[in-house]
Amino acid sequence: MKTIVVASGKGGAGKTSFTASFMAWLHGQGIRAVAADADVDAANLGLALKAGEPSERSTYIAGDAWEVRAEACTGCGACAAACRFDAISLASGAARIDPFSCERCGACADVCPTGAIKSVPAVAGELLRSPIAYGEALAHGELIPGEDASGKLVRQVRESAARIAGHEGLVVVDAPPGIGCPAMAAISGAGLLVVLVEAGASGIRDAARLLDNAAIAKVPAVAVLNKAGLSAERDSEARNLAAERGLDVLGRIPFDPAFRLAAERGGTWLDSGAPGPVEAVREACAAVAARAGLIPTTSPAGDAPERTAP
Ligand code: SF4
Ligand code: SF4
Repeated sequence: MKTIVVASGKGGAGKTSFTASFMAWLHGQGIRAVAADADVDAANLGLALKAGEPSERSTYIAGDAWEVRAEACTGCGACAAACRFDAISLASGAARIDPFSCERCGACADVCPTGAIKSVPAVAGELLRSPIAYGEALAHGELIPGEDASGKLVRQVRESAARIAGHEGLVVVDAPPGIGCPAMAAISGAGLLVVLVEAGASGIRDAARLLDNAAIAKVPAVAVLNKAGLSAERDSEARNLAAERGLDVLGRIPFDPAFRLAAERGGTWLDSGAPGPVEAVREACAAVAARAGLIPTTSPAGDAPERTAP
């Protein structure tokens, strides 16, 4: 199985839009792929891929939570005194744990003299499989409000996508933003990491941090510049970053307001109707597919040509 992961060091750099556009481009080429929305905090990939109602659902258990069995509680207050997170209140002679404040350390259970505090599975959300217009299926997760996105959930979304794709299949992952545990869980073990570098000050800095982590994880990476053409200085900084890290720039996608409108309409960049930028997206998709060995290489290795919005 091949896994291509699209990531960026920050939100808003265009990785979800590029992932959706890449899936649509692959679909147009007759290449079957499963999408995995690992951005579990803001799982929006399904909008652009026109996902239907989930065909499979399973419960996501984040670990252990703690619960007070009221019938065994004497209201002694030892648990509340032991809780460093002020998560326990005493009312009507019994302790109550606030699940939003509880850090699940278990100290309260250790001190409870009657064994009234028991661990229970912490249901934190659902793992879903949904049909999509551009590809075989979408594997995604849905968190219960207040639950943390975690590397464990991201890994389960990836594993679910891998099961659907099968041994010979292709999985395209939309990674969470940032460089935390969920992002690393999305990136590790990828066959190819596509780093969307937003050609702006924060986009370049955050992409650099992401690339540091990708190097530690020993994941082969390429760059696609997004929102290019707004500032020659930033474009040059983004290219320099790629050059310093030894990355080929496989695409330069110009900034175009039509992309934003297409996303707001629930489409991909390919639906934007902006001919020059759309061509740049197609070229980037083809270059990534060629690098991943999905299509023959038609152009020499190296950086993508400059294209600007009309
Ligand atoms: S320590 Fe145990 S018995 Fe005492 S208030 Fe807490 S849950 Fe109830
Ligand atoms: S598990 Fe830890 S954080 Fe949660 S209520 Fe008990 S002592 Fe407090």
